[in-house]
Amino acid sequence: MKGNVAVIGAGLVGAVAGLSLAQEGYNVTIFELRADPRLADTGDKNLRSINLAVSNRGIRTLRMIDPQMAERVLADVLPMKGRMIHDLKGNQAEQLYGLYGDAIYSIDRGVLNENLLHEIELFDEAKNEGSIQTKFEHKLLNVDFGNDSDKDSPVEVTFRRKNHNDDVRLKFDMIIGADGAHSTTRAFLGKKVRMDYSQQYIDKCYVELYIPPSDDPNNKFSISPNHLHIWPRRDFMLIALPNTDGSFTSTFFGPWKLTESLKTKEQISSFFSDQFPDAVNLIGENTLVHAFQNNPKGSLLQVTCSPYHFKGKCIIIGDAAHSMVPFYGQGMNCGFEDVRLLTELLKKSKYVSEDAFEAFTETRHKDLLAILSLALGNYHEMSAKVTSNLYKLRKAADGVLHKLLGDHWLPLYTMVSFRDDIPYHEALEIEAHQQRLVSIFGGVSILSASVAILYGLKRGLKI
Ligand code: FAD
Repeated sequence: MKGNVAVIGAGLVGAVAGLSLAQEGYNVTIFELRADPRLADTGDKNLRSINLAVSNRGIRTLRMIDPQMAERVLADVLPMKGRMIHDLKGNQAEQLYGLYGDAIYSIDRGVLNENLLHEIELFDEAKNEGSIQTKFEHKLLNVDFGNDSDKDSPVEVTFRRKNHNDDVRLKFDMIIGADGAHSTTRAFLGKKVRMDYSQQYIDKCYVELYIPPSDDPNNKFSISPNHLHIWPRRDFMLIALPNTDGSFTSTFFGPWKLTESLKTKEQISSFFSDQFPDAVNLIGENTLVHAFQNNPKGSLLQVTCSPYHFKGKCIIIGDAAHSMVPFYGQGMNCGFEDVRLLTELLKKSKYVSEDAFEAFTETRHKDLLAILSLALGNYHEMSAKVTSNLYKLRKAADGVLHKLLGDHWLPLYTMVSFRDDIPYHEALEIEAHQQRLVSIFGGVSILSASVAILYGLKRGLKI
């Protein structure tokens, strides 16, 4: 047994972290403030976005823990091989993500979380050195990092339990904070170490809308199930991801002022009918108005911080360490990648957690900054650039060059979503280099064309 570990948060990243550490031989207890989501009457079914896209980085981590577990956990995914762009008239145009049938996978967030919790129960302690258990309705209240001069002194964590008058205090060798964007672990870590921290709300809110399965007995999907649908309208947009039952989870993203100005049935109906006429048909006008008026309006938050750890006693991962806007579909994938990297570092350091945590902070920060900036930039790509001819030209050129040059020319989306061996910061650097080459090539082409035109004019040629 490598030590007793408390994981704070049984969300997607906390559950995966727990499984990975138990597999490595730690005794893991995961503490979660919510009730068990599998208990229909008490579970919090009102989770954020109903579905999300899982891609290679996330899948690699699940496979690292156990390839068969990955198969089980991801049994109900739907591949999305590209974007489907919906214009104002309802015309649809496909933009494939990759050349070789690459896809990202739509999965129900609740199902994924429940599948992971189920895997925790399946964990066979007889076959493994480690162990894992989950304690629901335990809210982290306090972290005491122990005696500074004694690196082996335990961390004492205090939890408030639902329906109990007394708090519970427990000691662990280390704690992993996977308690999301508003992390309590991070708050205590920030008091212990000189943590740089920044938080930024972007001026976009999101509202979830639901596209029901189609009535057609021969096809339960009313639009393609193998695309991520986008209605790009610059300042605001609608997206939709498929669910296996034929429905789609659609999300409206728009500035707060605009969203909050749409109050009455008439305002909402007229806005959506003008901007997303085909989506209104898919959702149904009354349902749409009701959902827009009543569904929660979510805010989008970016958090960066560093360091991520204190000695070998505490580390934060997932949204607790790097909350990002959802436009690259990487928040969870990046959190899963944290788990893989942390596990590899623990192995490499022969399970000396201080060395592993130190190396995590040192190596991971530039990647996290890179993916945060990519995520922010991708709003513009999804909501506006996808309709620009220059963007389509660049995408086509990327495709041709990638086909001709293989790994010597890699589209940015491919590096981020379909490759799990290129760190995010390297993907950014490679793209910047490719962008420079495109600019030089573009400049040279324009120059050559201008020279040819001038030469032609001089020779009295009609152009
Ligand atoms: P969370 O999911 O926030 O889980 C944290 C857990 O900690 C929660 O269960 C919480 O109850 C618990 N907790 C909090 N405080 C305490 C406490 N004091 N004590 C005990 N427990 C506590 N990512 C993708 O990869 N692909 C996508 O397509 C995608 N789409 C998204 C769409 C939207 C609209 C949004 C908002 C996000 C999207 N994301 C996506 C991001 C993704 O949802 C997050 O990155 C991911 O959920 C982070 O997981 P986490 O476990 O770190 O945090």
